[in-house]
Amino acid sequence: MRRVVLKLSGEALASPASDETIDASTVDFLAREIAGAMQRGGLELAVVVGGGNIWRGATGAMAGMNRANSDLMGMLGTVINALALQDAIESHGRATRVMSAISMDQVAEPYIRRRAVRHLEKGRVVIFAAGMGNPYFTTDTPAAQRAAEIEADIVLKGTHGGVDGVYDDDPRVNASAVRFDEISFDQVIARDLRVMDMTAITFCKDNRLPLRIFDLMAPGNLGRALDGHAVGTLVQ
Ligand code: UDP
Repeated sequence: MRRVVLKLSGEALASPASDETIDASTVDFLAREIAGAMQRGGLELAVVVGGGNIWRGATGAMAGMNRANSDLMGMLGTVINALALQDAIESHGRATRVMSAISMDQVAEPYIRRRAVRHLEKGRVVIFAAGMGNPYFTTDTPAAQRAAEIEADIVLKGTHGGVDGVYDDDPRVNASAVRFDEISFDQVIARDLRVMDMTAITFCKDNRLPLRIFDLMAPGNLGRALDGHAVGTLVQ
């Protein structure tokens, strides 16, 4: 694995132990995991961060807001998270660049594929913010789409709620649910397993992009996933 896209949800930056939208010690933990993982030579890492800890477009739409407007709010939330992550990763000594799909010159670079790849080649962690810049998506889909665009080898989806992979049933409800070590995209689709948005799943399938779902909050797990160890579930 050389070039990797890591998707992490906005909620991974929060913590049940604090009232803050972004919990400093949780972000520090994630930054340490990322900066530590980057010490492996030859690894290029791009992060797509969500915004669900701040706003989800669907929430506003359900309350009667215009969907596109509400989704813009969600995308702006991802930018806030990206800046928090940037700050924390840099405090651990690793250079980063935030690239936004929505122009905001004073805040982040615009997303330009060739420039993103150049940053990666130079060893910078690239944080993709504002999703794809289009409403009606969640950040799962830009994680897959950006991965294809920058020719990443795999998408790693880090989970944070204790569900450490793909199960045949919801393990939070059914204690005898069984985790798959490996599963095909066709099986995920046929069984309607909600591991990632279906748009992202079909995109990965169509573009032959493998996907690993794993528990990002277990110390050392990101490194293990990057080393190709069988953590969580591999979908391909
Ligand atoms: N969003 C969007 N287009 C994108 C990516 C995100 O409109 O390409 C909006 C959408 O409203 C979404 C919100 O940004 O609900 C936050 O992203 P997401 O729900 O994926 O966050 P996560 O669940 O990963 O924290």
